[in-house]
Amino acid sequence: MHKNSDEEKHRMETILGQVKDPELISQIEKVVPFHGFLTSGALIGIQMLNIAKRELEVQDGERIYVTCETKSCMPDPFQILAGATIGNNGLKIHNLGKMAVTINKQAPEGVYSIKGLRIILDPEKTKAYPKLHAWYLNTEKFPHVEIVPILLDAGEKVYSWKSVDIEVPVRRKKRIQCCKNCGEMFTQYDNELLCGGCTE
Ligand SMILES: [Zn+2]
Repeated sequence: MHKNSDEEKHRMETILGQVKDPELISQIEKVVPFHGFLTSGALIGIQMLNIAKRELEVQDGERIYVTCETKSCMPDPFQILAGATIGNNGLKIHNLGKMAVTINKQAPEGVYSIKGLRIILDPEKTKAYPKLHAWYLNTEKFPHVEIVPILLDAGEKVYSWKSVDIEVPVRRKKRIQCCKNCGEMFTQYDNELLCGGCTE
């Protein structure tokens, strides 16, 4: 996935050695072994998470729900740093190929709409950083070691965010159906009699 030469590894270590914020260092140290390498997208995920934690006043250990609009790199920091995983339904991938996430806290019982925050990597703002902008628009290729320091330097200046209304899904009773075609058990979404594999 993320192949890096020894030289690039060394350059990345030098870059990370210049990070001053101990909280950010600790976050990067957790993301690197989980994701494999500090990619630009993984760092963007970390920075977006930190914006959301502050803006939504997320307490330590509090559950958050994340919808990530790209499947590459960005979802991983939310899994390892915020415990919002695919398996606990804290993380959804809505792969629109966008550098954007929407984050909300858990809604209180009986509440079906909650305020969340949608954060984007803002092309109007990345313009001020030509190399980052070219990477974002893919008009030029750069290794992560060239983009990561720009992101670290820019910090939150390249992001925009706004409050959004989020519909909280109503929990329905789980129903198991035996597929009329293959005979395997599956969870029904509607009243369908064939499993997803047999209707494809
Ligand atoms: Zn089937």
